[in-house]
Amino acid sequence: MPRAETLPQIACIALGSNLGDRRAAIENASAKIATLPGTTLHALSTLIETAPVGPPGQGDFLNAAASIETTLTPRALLDALLRIEQSLGRVRGRRWGPRTIDLDLILFGDRVIDEPGLTVPHPMFRERLFVLEPLAEIKPGMTDPVTGRTVRQLLDDRLVACRSNEP
Ligand code: AMP
Repeated sequence: MPRAETLPQIACIALGSNLGDRRAAIENASAKIATLPGTTLHALSTLIETAPVGPPGQGDFLNAAASIETTLTPRALLDALLRIEQSLGRVRGRRWGPRTIDLDLILFGDRVIDEPGLTVPHPMFRERLFVLEPLAEIKPGMTDPVTGRTVRQLLDDRLVACRSNEP
């Protein structure tokens, strides 16, 4: 299985933490992403605080998004992200439970991938304001290859949908 792309690709990663020193976890993860082979960190968004989705009784999240340029393949990048999660002390517990660090691969160029253990674009990102808001700050014009919508348009769509659900 090749581990490198012929041409560098732009990829977007969502970062989240709701356990321990959340800011340090996100900053450490982004520093580790920046040192991956064949990878340059282009931007790290502002960190935003969001209410948790999932089981009750867990603390608020800090969320951010990063854009990188990389010659890693999507699979090699995801493997590296999972290793960074482990190195920062993530223990896999309840689904959607509290976590020291969560790293999701959101977009990888215009690639559409649906393989065991790797779905790109990330299947939930269009519904998640905590991904779309920081991503729109750093990569508003990047296009979702599935819907053809830019990140900015997806955020606007989501905000409209949220408002129309308000009582
Ligand atoms: P989670 O516990 O929510 O971080 O889910 C991580 C699991 O989802 C890993 O085992 C990955 O193999 C799988 N996965 C599939 N697609 C993605 C993706 N685009 N980004 C992150 N994890 C993914």
